[in-house]
Amino acid sequence: MKIALVAHDKKKEDIVNFAIAYESLFQGHEMYATGTTGKRIMEATSLKVHRFQSGPLGGDQQIGALIAENELDLLIFLRDPLMAQPHEPDIIALLRLCDVHNIPVATNMATAEMLLRGTQRGDLDWRLKKDVSTQH
Ligand code: PGA
Repeated sequence: MKIALVAHDKKKEDIVNFAIAYESLFQGHEMYATGTTGKRIMEATSLKVHRFQSGPLGGDQQIGALIAENELDLLIFLRDPLMAQPHEPDIIALLRLCDVHNIPVATNMATAEMLLRGTQRGDLDWRLKKDVSTQH
């Protein structure tokens, strides 16, 4: 499974703790992240993370491109709901693409935990079928 992790600055500590807590689960998957989020996760864990640009510099759009190509299976995006972001249009576009392509996405820790537990249980195995079509 290809999993992307993104966290705004106020949520970086949360995503790092989350990555530590689920490190053994994440080991079995291909991990992606925006620049700073990925750097922080790699410093705190032994996970190998494919890092894109930092979010404000285009990282969200790069993850969106993966989704458009049906190359991402799960997105955990811990947004800061209390502060305006300079790249707000990119964030909206990324979440929109998740809906367009039916990609499971969590924007808070409670949902992220449920998605990961579901992943452990095999609830997302339908994503592994390569004939999953996103064509409309
Ligand atoms: P970052 O990007 O991981 O490079 O901080 C996240 C974001 O702000 O979208």
